[in-house]
Amino acid sequence: MKCAQGGSFSKGELQRFGNIELSPSAGVLNYGQGLFEGLKAYRKEDGTILLFRPEENALRMRLGAERMCMPSPTVEQFVEAVKATVLANKRWVPPPGKGSLYIRPLLMGSGAVLGLAPAPEYTFLIYVSPVGNYFKEGVAPINLIVEHELHRATPGGTGGVKTIGNYAAVLKAQSAAKAKGYSDVLYLDCVHKRYLEEVSSCNIFVVKDNVISTPAIKGTILPGITRKSIIDVARSEGLQVEERQVAVEDLLDADEVFCTGTAVVVSPVGSITYLGKRVCYGDGFGAVSEKLYSVLTRLQMGLSEDKMDWTVELR
Ligand code: PMP
Repeated sequence: MKCAQGGSFSKGELQRFGNIELSPSAGVLNYGQGLFEGLKAYRKEDGTILLFRPEENALRMRLGAERMCMPSPTVEQFVEAVKATVLANKRWVPPPGKGSLYIRPLLMGSGAVLGLAPAPEYTFLIYVSPVGNYFKEGVAPINLIVEHELHRATPGGTGGVKTIGNYAAVLKAQSAAKAKGYSDVLYLDCVHKRYLEEVSSCNIFVVKDNVISTPAIKGTILPGITRKSIIDVARSEGLQVEERQVAVEDLLDADEVFCTGTAVVVSPVGSITYLGKRVCYGDGFGAVSEKLYSVLTRLQMGLSEDKMDWTVELR
């Protein structure tokens, strides 16, 4: 789907996956005008395909587009395009229990622009790929290292939206962490260098005495759809959830730590290393994260009744 700056998107069309043509001076290539989303489709035993809260991705893309001076598809256009793309690629949705189809909507400044300005034209596209687990550990605990020099977002910046540049900003710390054997990096706020933000591609939760805490949304972390869903699931299970400033010291005596995201779902954290000191949380899910993982994934895979009305069925 294409749209001029200041205009609106019209109905798109399905195309075979392949390279796309861009001007060397496309806004996305020169000034980083790009946003993406990520969601998954699961296949049920009866063949029905389930999407999880696609309108939330649409809304997040619209907020991001506003921040990045880009027009965006309406919620309806976004959801319809996701449905059409998944249906056209139905055969790539893995069988139940064997993974999911990852859906990647992308919005970019595709028009040519030389001086710094919003691009004159935009492209919205969606591609898909079957996926298994995100971390090589699967649902085994991941090992994080706290980054205390590099930051992924600054107050007033673009950390709260899913713009492509945020991911370029994490590559250096993430690659260094992976080279040392860690699964990923945990970022701190750049003002106090003390409060937890998030991991390169997921949100973080800390459990202490059955109270679940997660960093509050304040512009520098991505408002994860899994994060929001887990908070609702936890509360509906009678658990207390606090969205607050979580200090790095809170990690020292936590009972459980886990991450959430579309790709990682709910992943238990086995250890966190901070300034050379390693804090360990166990070799599997804790009781709280296991419960939340089970409730959420059963709902996403259509194995339990969807009382929240979060899934969208495709046939
Ligand atoms: N934080 C970042 C930086 C991410 O890239 C993601 C993945 N989209 C998340 C958190 C989790 O968001 P969601 O649950 O919507 O996938």
